[in-house]
Amino acid sequence: MCEFCHKHGEGKKWYLEAKNYSEDLLSDLRRRKFVHEFFDDVDSLAKGTDGLRRLRKAPAFVRAVLEPRLVKRQKRIHFGQVVPLEEVERIFELVNSVVRLPCICRQATVRSEQRYCYGVSMLPDLTGRIFEIIRAVGADYLTGPHTGGLEVLSKEAALASLKELEKKSLCHTVWTFVAPFIGGVCNCDRSDCLAMRATVTHDFPVMFRAEYIAGIEPDLCNGCRACMRACQFGAMAYSIAQDKVMIDPFKCYGCGICRASCTKNAIALSERSAVPAAADLW
Ligand code: SF4
Ligand code: SF4
Repeated sequence: MCEFCHKHGEGKKWYLEAKNYSEDLLSDLRRRKFVHEFFDDVDSLAKGTDGLRRLRKAPAFVRAVLEPRLVKRQKRIHFGQVVPLEEVERIFELVNSVVRLPCICRQATVRSEQRYCYGVSMLPDLTGRIFEIIRAVGADYLTGPHTGGLEVLSKEAALASLKELEKKSLCHTVWTFVAPFIGGVCNCDRSDCLAMRATVTHDFPVMFRAEYIAGIEPDLCNGCRACMRACQFGAMAYSIAQDKVMIDPFKCYGCGICRASCTKNAIALSERSAVPAAADLW
């Protein structure tokens, strides 16, 4: 179990706790202000990535002092975790409303409206506060090719669209807006998602690995390497001698995306806690 499961989930998966999606948490004025500012200031996200680049080049002692403090702050305000599709399905069972939103990361990195993010809410309709807050954000964020603003989806439609995104190798993640409130499910890739860039490219964690880890059944694997193209984390390697792919447990984030590209059903997820080499890696 990750740190958040102990802290915000009473020893169970924190993102499957209904209270972490509740309106009670969102009634906190500081949190509402944070959500508003987060969606309203695309440029500060891009600047954050520049800051990480500078931090990476800083002397080791500077990094050793600054990084733990910055990560602690990030865990308090906006932190994520990789979740496989089955877990997103369970999250959708918990919440009452799902809306599709333009991805704030892609706004910052590719300067275009790409609807890869899903706002989730316990509220039965869309008059709820998170949607009021997001609606109140500058028009630039919610207009563009899809001028409808917030796009309301049934849970079935949302899940079907996530399955399509898996085919494009996007990795599902769940996000806090001032912990422990959870407000969104995103679909990330290494090139455009600022969180993945920070965590994987700059080695500055802003999201936990999944509570799972992938493994390959060697007898089923034919060495086609299709899965390697899907992995956003560089966790797979091909063995020429065995004509099979192996997964590095130190690099696997447990997203499960590789499964969608394996026609042999050779890849399965296990609970991270059951794999000693990965049990304490977050
Ligand atoms: S896609 Fe499946 S069969 Fe092909 S290399 Fe990967 S695990 Fe093996
Ligand atoms: S090997 Fe691990 S990190 Fe890579 S796609 Fe599969 S589950 Fe995700």
